[in-house]
Amino acid sequence: MSTTKGYAVQEATLPLAPFNFERREVRPHDVQIEILYCGVCHSDIHQVRGEWGNSIYPMVPGHEIVGRVTAVGNHVKNFKVGDLAGVGCLVDSCRTCPSCEQGLEQFCDTGMVGTYNGLDKDGKITYGGYSTQIVVDEKYTLKVSDKLPLAGVAPLLCAGITTYSPLRYVGVKKGDKVAVLGLGGLGHMAVKFAVAFGAEVTMLSSSLSKKEDALKLGAHHFALTSDEATMNTLASSFDYILNTVSAQHDYNTYLNLLRVNGTMIIVGVPPAPTPIHAFPLIMKRRSIIGSLIGGIAETQEMLDFCAEHNIVSEVEVIDMSYINEAYERMLKSDVRYRFVIDLASLK
Ligand code: NAP
Ligand code: ZN
Ligand code: ZN
Repeated sequence: MSTTKGYAVQEATLPLAPFNFERREVRPHDVQIEILYCGVCHSDIHQVRGEWGNSIYPMVPGHEIVGRVTAVGNHVKNFKVGDLAGVGCLVDSCRTCPSCEQGLEQFCDTGMVGTYNGLDKDGKITYGGYSTQIVVDEKYTLKVSDKLPLAGVAPLLCAGITTYSPLRYVGVKKGDKVAVLGLGGLGHMAVKFAVAFGAEVTMLSSSLSKKEDALKLGAHHFALTSDEATMNTLASSFDYILNTVSAQHDYNTYLNLLRVNGTMIIVGVPPAPTPIHAFPLIMKRRSIIGSLIGGIAETQEMLDFCAEHNIVSEVEVIDMSYINEAYERMLKSDVRYRFVIDLASLK
């Protein structure tokens, strides 16, 4: 066992505060990683605050982890001490169900083991990346290139794969018209990937102040969602809308922006259900699908794609002690475009 410093929340209404805990011994297939950076995902806030009804406390959040390998078990083949490594949203799964066999571990029949707010196979609570080190089976550990700035790589482990995976799944290609709804952590990565895949990209945002940034990120157009006249001109114009919004909003309004056979991909997870009308769906044979992060092999593919195309997240690096303020700012949509914790501030 090795004592680890972290930040945890003890119950939904309390702020995050320092918390020491034990990590497991390094087993034969395990990699031990000194965490250098951990991104702050809006899912951390939802779960810390018990908004999804699945929270286990104490909770050490964090599933956008990059660091350096400090020890490996004697059966580990792909990592050695000193290597860079990444850990995303899952650290285990059953490994034998049809989803696991297809590399879709996020849809494991028995449920993936979340990097935090989960129970591992020994029934112990998993603790995430707001901490100084983590021990993970190498099968669920990612290779990280040394070509990219590490703080900007951390968010790729969730915001990156969550947007890369559905855009690949639906097959976004040159000339497709893609709208990204919500310019936060996921939204800004969605813009970068959709542009990299050749799409004509429109940013749909509730924040006019983000227009210039959206265009700098590569979006070809920007539309303010509260501007009714502009929204009317966009009716029936997109092949895909990638919806990253974290708060309650009306899906029907945005479904109407899809052309015939258009698809809205939901990745944002507002806390409560949202009614969907039949009309916007039937009128143009539109569809609505959801997507959850991505499997391990696809996460590696995405990291390699980013290294090749020089894609990283735009980050504001923070000390661990700033985390509660960072959450408040994210709740006001005031993040440009991912907070990333420098874990040196916790040592
Ligand atoms: P974030 O950085 O906080 O960004 C969310 C964005 O949504 C905001 O920047 C804002 O963009 C927009 N927004 C927020 N409140 C809004 C409101 N009341 N009305 C309209 N727009 C609003 O969050 P994130 O980390 O990108 O996460 C986004 C969502 O995806 C969260 O619900 C998270 O839990 C979920 N998520 C899902 C998966 C998955 O696998 N499916 C993975 C990771 C995260 P504008 O200012 O541009 O409007
Ligand atoms: Zn996340
Ligand atoms: Zn499985």
